[in-house]
Amino acid sequence: MGRLVVLAGPTAVGKGTLLKALLERHPEVWVSVSATTRPARPGERDGEDYHFVSDERFDALVSDDGLLEWATVHGKHRYGTPRQPVLDAVAAGRPAVLEIDLDGVRQVRTTMPEAHFVFVAPPSWEELVRRLEGRGTESEAERERRLTTARQEMAAINEFDEVVVNDDLDAALERLEGIVLEAR
Ligand code: 5GP
Repeated sequence: MGRLVVLAGPTAVGKGTLLKALLERHPEVWVSVSATTRPARPGERDGEDYHFVSDERFDALVSDDGLLEWATVHGKHRYGTPRQPVLDAVAAGRPAVLEIDLDGVRQVRTTMPEAHFVFVAPPSWEELVRRLEGRGTESEAERERRLTTARQEMAAINEFDEVVVNDDLDAALERLEGIVLEAR
């Protein structure tokens, strides 16, 4: 069985960048592609970044028990992890990674307590705000919404097995590598 790592952490902390770098170094790592009702951003590709689905399709995934976990994130759109691909990857012995929100983490902790839970933290709150503003992809209202969620996430840091502070990208990547590939 492959190791299942569940990654969470506030908006703009650099989870996406870390995961991308991890995959470049270790193509054998399997990363879950979530389903979401959020519209695609420019440059995002269906089936790669997310499975972009309608509300009706998301409802069907939920009622068919096709999701390992799902949540409404930032009080707006629904996001969920397709169940079968995770089970297949783990059964095939691949290290598998989910990147999900705190609600989702709590659900996976109940259904798959053997998973490994990792929180990616910013060096400081100020730095997080700076990164979110620097990214420039969200409106002011959207940024506020994301920072509200981030405050709640930071308060739950003790629920995780491991905390990776994303200060220096290379150092954070090395920590994550150690965690994801440890079971081999
Ligand atoms: P974004 O809209 O910026 O792509 O994603 C917002 C947040 O949604 C991410 O930071 C992540 O925590 C959460 N998210 C993405 N996919 C999933 C999922 O499948 N399940 C849950 N619970 N949260 C997700």
